[in-house]
Amino acid sequence: MKLVIVGTGYVGLISGLCFAEFGFQTVCVDKDNDRINSLKKGECSFYEPGLENLLNKHLKETKLLSLNSSLSEAMTDANIVFITVGTPTKRLEGEADLTAVYKVADEIANNIKSYCIIVTKSTVPVGTTSEIKKIIAKKVNNEKFDTVSNPEFLREGSAIGDFMRPDRVVIGCDSDKAEKLMRELYRPLYLLETPIVSTSIESAEIIKYASNSFLATKIAFINQVADLCEAVGGNVQDVAKAMGFDKRIGSKFLHAGPGFGGSCFPKDVKAFISTAKKFNVDLSIIDSVNVSNKKRPQEITSKIFKHFNNDIKGKIFSILGLSFKPDTDDVRDSTSIIIAEILYKKGAIIKAYDPKAMENAKVVLPNIHYSDSVMESCIGADSIIIATEWNEFRALNFKKLKEQMNNPIIFDLRNIYNKDELTNLKFVYYGIGK
Ligand code: NAD
Repeated sequence: MKLVIVGTGYVGLISGLCFAEFGFQTVCVDKDNDRINSLKKGECSFYEPGLENLLNKHLKETKLLSLNSSLSEAMTDANIVFITVGTPTKRLEGEADLTAVYKVADEIANNIKSYCIIVTKSTVPVGTTSEIKKIIAKKVNNEKFDTVSNPEFLREGSAIGDFMRPDRVVIGCDSDKAEKLMRELYRPLYLLETPIVSTSIESAEIIKYASNSFLATKIAFINQVADLCEAVGGNVQDVAKAMGFDKRIGSKFLHAGPGFGGSCFPKDVKAFISTAKKFNVDLSIIDSVNVSNKKRPQEITSKIFKHFNNDIKGKIFSILGLSFKPDTDDVRDSTSIIIAEILYKKGAIIKAYDPKAMENAKVVLPNIHYSDSVMESCIGADSIIIATEWNEFRALNFKKLKEQMNNPIIFDLRNIYNKDELTNLKFVYYGIGK
């Protein structure tokens, strides 16, 4: 079986490499020539643990992976073609921008020679795969192709493990022939007892948005509970822990923090709301999640201002962590970046450090200082803000850091430290919801 993956971003490249790991001949295609050329040299344009090793293995040793910037060359003898291009939020409107998806669908249509399956792996609103079918059917006979929705659930930072050991695989399909081939593709996971869920195309598309929106709801919920804990003297970590023991609730995604960010949750929540509006359906729960999360960074920074009597002009903040989560260099919709921006605009001096994301951060936040280490970022600081919970920040030597600082205040926005320990070291400590 020969696979073609269109788009070599997080989802495309990781899917391509993991399918190669299953033993399939895979071609990854991208319109970005520079990206393809770097990949051919074994270099990735983004950081993901284990990715470069896997790339070099399948590029140079097994030779199961090849890279191409020409879709027509790549599609020769293809059995399954995956669309994994980006679906960002349309400016101002909230809905998903499907320009790249439809463009790729049209390009695929120009290159279908024998029967193949076109799979939407990009996160797309319900109805998109059916639209793709129409686009292709304008140029290709119906017997020569089928369309499938196969949403991806991997998480940046643990993407390879997630792809190789997913909680489930969803196959949205209306053709027995296509479903048989898709099940053959995922047979290595089926043998590991991964649930393979077959649904209609529409259900598969909704499953992805409903899953991300539900997880986002858990985060927004616990953040509001954290506010209540702060107001009344509770501790949100104790509350979340006890809640999490209830199997109906579960302990995951109950970590209070500065709000959800990243390339998926914020845009998927907005796109889900936009779809509901289009079909005149009440999705007000998700609407509130979006509203409360949008306010979150502003609310957090207000608490920081309060510690400085609302005057942070000239104060130096050491921000630790810029990526939206640990183990990735992705800063798309990162709350750390939003918080740094708010503080900077209010006249603060920002010294930031991140183990992997500083190059990407410099593009969106060019005016702040970037440090080579935690220690350097703390020199002269009036406060440390732990914004992303990288492992490197979990065992900081606060005694040494305090010697470098002007003012020992710590805002632990990821609740990774114990208040008493830091108070004993004569730090002023603020944790979320405690
Ligand atoms: P990305 O922005 O990292 O990568 C998209 C790639 O597609 C880029 O390399 C771009 O050059 C390429 N591309 C765009 N138009 C093209 C064209 N016409 N031909 C060839 N290549 C083209 O995107 P991503 O983060 O991998 O996300 C892709 C999709 O997967 C999105 O819909 C996203 O919501 C979804 N998704 C992402 C994640 C994640 O963690 N990033 C997880 C699950 C699902």
